[in-house]
Amino acid sequence: MPDNFHLSGKTFSVVTMGCRVNHYEAEAVAAAMEAKGAVFVPGGGASADITIIVTCSVTSVADAKSRKIVRRARRANPEGALVACGCWAQSASSGEAAEAGVDILVGNRVKSVIPDLLNEWYVTRKFYEKKIDVTKSEEWDNISLDRTRMSTRAFIKVQDGCERRCSYCAVPSLRGQCVSRGYEDIVSEVGRVTSRGAREIVLTGIQLGGYSDGDVSLAGLLERISRVPGVLRLQMGSLEPFAVNEELLRTAADSGVFCPHLHIPVESGDDGVLFSMRRGYTAAEFARIADMTRAYLGDDVHISTDLIVGFPGESEEAFSNSLELLEKISAGKVHVFPYSPRKGTPSAAMERLPGAAVNERTARALELSEKLLSSYAAKWVGRENRVLAENVNDGVASGWNRHYVRVYFPVNRDENAMRGNEFSTEPKISIGSILLCEGADMDMEKIAPYEE
Ligand code: SF4
Repeated sequence: MPDNFHLSGKTFSVVTMGCRVNHYEAEAVAAAMEAKGAVFVPGGGASADITIIVTCSVTSVADAKSRKIVRRARRANPEGALVACGCWAQSASSGEAAEAGVDILVGNRVKSVIPDLLNEWYVTRKFYEKKIDVTKSEEWDNISLDRTRMSTRAFIKVQDGCERRCSYCAVPSLRGQCVSRGYEDIVSEVGRVTSRGAREIVLTGIQLGGYSDGDVSLAGLLERISRVPGVLRLQMGSLEPFAVNEELLRTAADSGVFCPHLHIPVESGDDGVLFSMRRGYTAAEFARIADMTRAYLGDDVHISTDLIVGFPGESEEAFSNSLELLEKISAGKVHVFPYSPRKGTPSAAMERLPGAAVNERTARALELSEKLLSSYAAKWVGRENRVLAENVNDGVASGWNRHYVRVYFPVNRDENAMRGNEFSTEPKISIGSILLCEGADMDMEKIAPYEE
């Protein structure tokens, strides 16, 4: 009996939470499932035989959301097979998972076992758990892409784990120590997905800047990928400030395909708070990194960032320093996170600020974030914007321009011929963070939020 006997012909859907690494792993698990004869059902519907949830645990809110999505999937499909994998699965106990309705619980670095465990489950119908101590493992999870199924853009995971120890972050305990993938393996994967139509490559990792394969650094990897046929646009996922250096920026600028957008998490603009966060840089150093980024990628470069609000010990003055720094570097998109203590992290033992103060500051930070992104988006009105068409509905296409601003423009040919291709557009107006071209008549309710 073939080893995929029970999986063959079964339908499966994938629900993906969290970061771009999760999005990559969702695609790679789908590729592994289809290689075993299962049939992918787009859209994460509950009607599939199997539901695979790629979970997140970056904050306590993400934890609660993971549990909620798992329970909802179980209620929606009482007889189906339910797999939970990823960071929440890495931290959840088998009892908690089984109680929530999970059949197969798979942690990080071992998602490649999912198809075989499902094949066994169809025989035994008993609960399965597969986890390793990621903090001791140097293994690379053997899953990869043949094509993209869930996104027009191809997220390519090149690195996993993190060797830093920011005082508020639980990710190193969930994702383990820093490991990098062989660059030849990555380059051939990029060749596979571009040969199947992907035009935009987004390099991603947990600590992307930690990438190195022998003497091939992240810059070296970027240079090699920029020469792969079919790569029209190249991007990097979140990049820690200490990883932004001249070699990387110069390589990106010279590549001819790199999109001038960098997401560099600052987390705070106050040196005292940065010190107790153990971030390893000062506000002035971050501002210099932003200047250096502009020097290489142009004044129009989009520098987006993350800000944690209400970290223990953050005074009103410290918070103002954060807002001032965001204005000083003319940030674009700012992802605002109210501080969320993570069990087992050093900052969890620190005295917390009153909830009301955190909420009030979060509202002010969000207000500034909206103002900054709107003024950044407005810069692109009346200029040529090259947009990768991702969604095409009711005669209107939308996608990101090369500076990571969302543009809506009228459909001018067969919708399927548009998806995944790049178009030259000239937006006439900006509304908040989005750009609208003439003829892109649309119901503003349908405007997608500024997310992936
Ligand atoms: S660099 Fe810091 S915030 Fe980022 S994953 Fe590592 S420990 Fe967490």
